[in-house]
Amino acid sequence: MRSALRPAAVATIVLVSAACARPAAPPPSDNDWFESGQAAVTRARALVPPGARARSVILFIGDGMGLSTVTAAGILEGQIRGEPGEGNMLAFEELPHVALAKTYSVNLQVSDSAATATAMCTGVKTKAYALGVDERVTPGDWSTVEASRRRTLFEEAEARGLATGLVTTTRVTHATPAACYGHAAHRSWEDDTSLPPDAREAGFPDLARQLVEFSAGDGIDVILGGGRAQFLRHNQLDPERPEQTGNRLDGRDLIAAWQSRNPAGAFLWNRSQLASLDPRRVGPVLGLFESSHLAFEADRQDDIGGEPSLSEMTAKAIELLQRHPSGFVLMVEGGRIDQAHHLGNAYRALTDTIEFSHAVRAALSLTDPRETLIVVTADHSHVMTMAGYPHRGNPILGKVVSVDAGGEPDSRYLRDALGLPFTTLSYANGPGYTGASPEQPEGNKRFLHLPTGYRGIARGRPDLTAVDTTAPDYLQEATVPTRNDTHAGEDVPIYAGGPGAELFRGVQEQSYLFHAVIEALGWTDRER
Ligand SMILES: [Zn+2]
Repeated sequence: MRSALRPAAVATIVLVSAACARPAAPPPSDNDWFESGQAAVTRARALVPPGARARSVILFIGDGMGLSTVTAAGILEGQIRGEPGEGNMLAFEELPHVALAKTYSVNLQVSDSAATATAMCTGVKTKAYALGVDERVTPGDWSTVEASRRRTLFEEAEARGLATGLVTTTRVTHATPAACYGHAAHRSWEDDTSLPPDAREAGFPDLARQLVEFSAGDGIDVILGGGRAQFLRHNQLDPERPEQTGNRLDGRDLIAAWQSRNPAGAFLWNRSQLASLDPRRVGPVLGLFESSHLAFEADRQDDIGGEPSLSEMTAKAIELLQRHPSGFVLMVEGGRIDQAHHLGNAYRALTDTIEFSHAVRAALSLTDPRETLIVVTADHSHVMTMAGYPHRGNPILGKVVSVDAGGEPDSRYLRDALGLPFTTLSYANGPGYTGASPEQPEGNKRFLHLPTGYRGIARGRPDLTAVDTTAPDYLQEATVPTRNDTHAGEDVPIYAGGPGAELFRGVQEQSYLFHAVIEALGWTDRER
């Protein structure tokens, strides 16, 4: 059949924009936006060919790292370098493929981290607070775990002879890392003291025990994070904080148990031990650098025994795992981005996000993009928002200064309807609420690990004119008073580079991530 017009020849580009009303001006050749756009197209054309198989996978999870957090942290990083900041790229923003993930769980519109991590680590969505089990679980009921149990990415990798590793700034028994290896009807079952009495009597293993007793393959090869108290007996002194003891009441010293299961293994508890660890060693490594969560990156230098940064732990984990002949699966969590947001403290959330970006950069420099798939995502978002027409280069943690009629930065703060200045970043809910209320929430101090010098909560919408809102301990204002800020429910980004990265496209259910990783690794013969 002959046709004067082949369909491809009549392709039409429709730009839905009011600007289309005018004929396009010829592109200026001396325009940075234009030239950087052309360079980005050239880079996109030179990508790893689709269909390549990944030998190893690194899954980076910024806990609570929604898009407003990514944008604001990118600006802060640029501004720390003395730039306006808006065009700064975090390491993972340079990755070539992007998708969006829907993060709702089986029973929550706005999910918790256990259900979201389970979606990514097992390929199925589940109920809130459940780990490594599908929706047949009854949250809190240990007896429903076995029938609802799902095989995790780590179990699959170990069964296939790959090495596995997990790195986190939270306790290694916390929700996100625990979803790599654990199966529980509640995320709070981190040690035996948090198990319900019937589960304890039945001998159901808590998450610290599940980590040590992980039986797939040769066990998890590299474990770096916090949470020593979950491993030590109640009468055992903590190596770094001798005024503290472990949590366990079941008589088990799980660090000793790990050591006897791994005679060639190295247990570490401080930064210098990690730094001096020979990356050519073959035995597994258990590094627990704090009795609970690690410090926020902004406070890390104050640690007693010395704590490694997320990027230091990531680099060491990759060096150790790379020696494995069959490839590896590594999960790296920037776990305290979430916890700083729960505090209502954007400074620590953003500085932890910048350190998370450093960890991704370390991984990109240590791995070969032709063999290692790197996926970077968040488990869910947070209710921090970025608003108010600040001018280009306005300090991201500062009060909004807009532009005047001539388009130049104004000399005054932008004012709200009450005539008061306000910050670019604020929260929809959380401890930064400043409205009049007889019952001010104090904040959950046990959970928050408040830094010294933490400022109390003011009453009434304050006049911020003389307040330094860029100070590390400043709590951004929140609209609704809640003890902690909450997670947010909008989709989160997934960034990917390396073999199989092209699978990360479009809008996906969060559980898709697991299946795309399986496909990239070529594990298509997988049993359910
Ligand atoms: Zn959270």
